[in-house]
Amino acid sequence: MLKNLCPHEVCSSIYAIDYERLWDQGYRTLIFDIDNTLGSWGCKALDENSLRLLERLARRGFRLGFLSNNRGLDREALVAQLAPHMVLWNAQKPRTKRLQDLLQQMDAHADEAVLIGDQLFTDILGARRVNLYAIFVRPYDPQSDSLGAKLRRPLERWVLRVGRWINPPA
Ligand SMILES: [Mg+2]
Repeated sequence: MLKNLCPHEVCSSIYAIDYERLWDQGYRTLIFDIDNTLGSWGCKALDENSLRLLERLARRGFRLGFLSNNRGLDREALVAQLAPHMVLWNAQKPRTKRLQDLLQQMDAHADEAVLIGDQLFTDILGARRVNLYAIFVRPYDPQSDSLGAKLRRPLERWVLRVGRWINPPA
């Protein structure tokens, strides 16, 4: 269980990820969590920087998918921004069913897919359960966290500290 909570990498944000290295390692599919990964929790639209990054990654040849436990209601602008890509709302992470559905719909395989998210107990646990490469990013705006996420943050910090012994950085 503890091993499945440990990300393969920890990055300060989506901008700090070495996407070229991931490409060179053979990864072709990037699955992003939305809330507090690409924008603040519950954001109605993504900012210009996030959009530019996603465009650059798509141009590079990555397949992009998005997976959120949110239901996506009242977020029409965000839905429109992500429209060219596969988006699954109500993902029920860390359960694996919807994540596996998304991989199938994207015609992607676990061994060439990366999941990027800001929560260990949903994003990273779900990703590791289906053997994806899991990258944890610091929350975009910690103040905007849901109450549940706020309560889990101290436990996440503990897991990340202990996890270094289980998953030493390469
Ligand atoms: Mg999130």
